[in-house]
Amino acid sequence: MFHSTLKLLQKAQRGRYAVPHFNINNMEIVQGVTRAAATLRSPVILATSEGSLQYAGMNYLYSLAQTASEVTPIPIALHLDHGQNEEVVRKAILIGYSSVMIDASHEPFERNVQKTKRIVQLAHRKDIAVEAELGTIGGAEDTVRERKIQYTDPNTAQEFVERTDCDFLAVAIGTSHGAYKFAGKPSLQHNILSQIRRRVQVPLVLHGASAVPRKIVVLAEKYGASLQGVRGIPDAQIKKAIANGVTKINTDTDLRLAFDAAVRKALNNSPRDVDPRHILGPARDLIQHVAEQRIRLFGSAGKAS
Ligand SMILES: [Zn+2]
Repeated sequence: MFHSTLKLLQKAQRGRYAVPHFNINNMEIVQGVTRAAATLRSPVILATSEGSLQYAGMNYLYSLAQTASEVTPIPIALHLDHGQNEEVVRKAILIGYSSVMIDASHEPFERNVQKTKRIVQLAHRKDIAVEAELGTIGGAEDTVRERKIQYTDPNTAQEFVERTDCDFLAVAIGTSHGAYKFAGKPSLQHNILSQIRRRVQVPLVLHGASAVPRKIVVLAEKYGASLQGVRGIPDAQIKKAIANGVTKINTDTDLRLAFDAAVRKALNNSPRDVDPRHILGPARDLIQHVAEQRIRLFGSAGKAS
């Protein structure tokens, strides 16, 4: 059985740390991030995007996550990330996810309210929590198209949460999806975040918050990747966001970079070795390493009980 996402987040809210949300696409990623969480005794949210479900199938990813939760002695929740297709959201609710995100942030305010409300009513009947988004997070990721950042308005955030009854809220405060986040320096609007925090009681979620670790980028480039212009969010900014009330932080890009760097290195160093386990095993290890760094940064280490 999966853990309740909402309970993990409410506990984090009281303890002033953030629960890691890691996007999963295959077995190596599931094992890498859950091993990291188990090593550091951290709760963890495994998340599937619509893109990952198209790639692997909901049944496969659900089963992988379920197996991880059975064999790993830490709280694990399963979450649908950026649900835009209502059929997919409904399917996730039926199959037994811990929480779903309905992302209608690209719609006008009233339509976002109505769409979110519909999903909240459906999900709450099955005791499943709902994440919604107000404002738009920048960048592109999976099935989420390229967007400009539109900061979340603190006043409308209060109205949105009251009218939709959503359980946690993704806010746009200047973060951006993907590895190419900013042309210049990243600047998160911590004043907007504090204002939202004062008006809204539900846990707040940060998307597009990967660090894009320099060491991983250098490693990938050493073995042929071309990653000019990649840029992430500095650790200090993440810490400040947690201090200002963020309790769930999504990480996908950093895992992709780790996967990419490790696979490139393995292929390059052993051109005569065609064993997939020797190619993907190092990726699983590097993902675990990167996930452990995220967990330490978020302050969720030791919070598994
Ligand atoms: Zn996102």
